[in-house]
Amino acid sequence: MKHPNVLLLTIDTLRADWLGCYGHPKPISPHMDAFAEKSMRFTQAVTGGSWTQAAFPVMMTSTYASMYGGCLGPLSEERPSPISTMTIQGYKTAGFSTSPLLSKTFAYDQGFEQFIDLVPNEKDNFVRKMKGGQTLLRNPLFHQLALAFGQNMRPAKVYEPAEVLVDSVIDWLSLTNGPFFAWAHFMDVHWPYHLEDKLTKSEDIAQAWEDLVHLHEVNWNGASISDAQKAHYIDLYEKAIQYTDAEIGRLLNWLENSPLSDDTIIIIVSDHGEEFMERGYWGHVEINLYDEILKVPMLMQLPGQTEGKVINQQVRTLDIMPTVLDLCNLAIPERTEGSSFAPLWNGNPSAYDQPVSISERWREENHVVAIRTEAFKYIWDSEKPNEPHLYDLLADPKELKNVVADFPSEAKYFQSHVDAHLAKVEASKPDEKIAEPTLDKNVINRLRDLGYVE
Ligand SMILES: [Zn+2]
Repeated sequence: MKHPNVLLLTIDTLRADWLGCYGHPKPISPHMDAFAEKSMRFTQAVTGGSWTQAAFPVMMTSTYASMYGGCLGPLSEERPSPISTMTIQGYKTAGFSTSPLLSKTFAYDQGFEQFIDLVPNEKDNFVRKMKGGQTLLRNPLFHQLALAFGQNMRPAKVYEPAEVLVDSVIDWLSLTNGPFFAWAHFMDVHWPYHLEDKLTKSEDIAQAWEDLVHLHEVNWNGASISDAQKAHYIDLYEKAIQYTDAEIGRLLNWLENSPLSDDTIIIIVSDHGEEFMERGYWGHVEINLYDEILKVPMLMQLPGQTEGKVINQQVRTLDIMPTVLDLCNLAIPERTEGSSFAPLWNGNPSAYDQPVSISERWREENHVVAIRTEAFKYIWDSEKPNEPHLYDLLADPKELKNVVADFPSEAKYFQSHVDAHLAKVEASKPDEKIAEPTLDKNVINRLRDLGYVE
């Protein structure tokens, strides 16, 4: 029985349509585009949640975010653990995380033999807390002066950059023999998008502080965003993609030149996209369950694969771990919700029979469920249960017109999926509420600059 290696690379906040291999016009992702030429490229890969904490339980445990007590606290021990299955079956398993939300604090080390939380060792700038400090930090002259005295007063890093992550993964891979499963999470494309190490000019440093203040106002207080600001943020986003792509290229190149390459499955996928004001917001606000957020880029290369293949059937990030286990010839744990999509290229596509994907926004007081097929998206909101939305994705891919009144039988069908899902969530509910973890000040500061806390 063959047990191939698996390298899972997840990129936070990467929109599918911002990669060349998904049609983006600018050449900002040459390494991933070249990789796509020798991989399976999924054109309709759907994430289970619109933000990190809702998307990752789906990807890593193949259960929905709202199940087992929800996704706001640490992952429940009750959830099935495909990673544990791999560890128990003799795989060397390692996780490399750069996000505070995917750290040991949130139990993302569950099932891994080794788990490395990469945390930047930088303190929040002291000037920020001083009276008038924020104004000072947004002034290029202040930075000109500070730089003249050898002080770079740029914002502190809120996550470790791809360079550090890739070095850490390569170090581990160099010492690993036997089948492995390694997961590395890249944060560079996530707001605030700044590549801090490249902030060396006074005007760029001042602008970075300006951006932090402005986007915080946009996120939390509804401040407006001009066309020039929008273009500036998209430029930063693209530079972050370019940087991440180069680092992924470095890792893939290293792997290709190592003996591991003959026998490694490589997956590149994002947890959710990013909204650029399509619905009046910037970023990935939880309530957005439209395709700019839910359709994620996903590439998968099998050992020895040299020809690209485009897979147009809808698949779910929920299915990634069941597919991995299937390809590794390991049993899929009970209670997982996904299925292996390997039949889609193994000559038996009808064996992957998953007509709908489910994506959620989950807070205890509010549950929004989006059911998607290749033709429709149905969105149900617990606060307005009798006012569902239905979008005809083929006629209206931007999901602008609610056509629920025109398709009563479809609406009924989708509502039955919502009801079945809610029943499943209820059945998995633990007796006791999962406590949200106590976070130290450093983590709270990082979450604030990532836009998660006010
Ligand atoms: Zn995320």
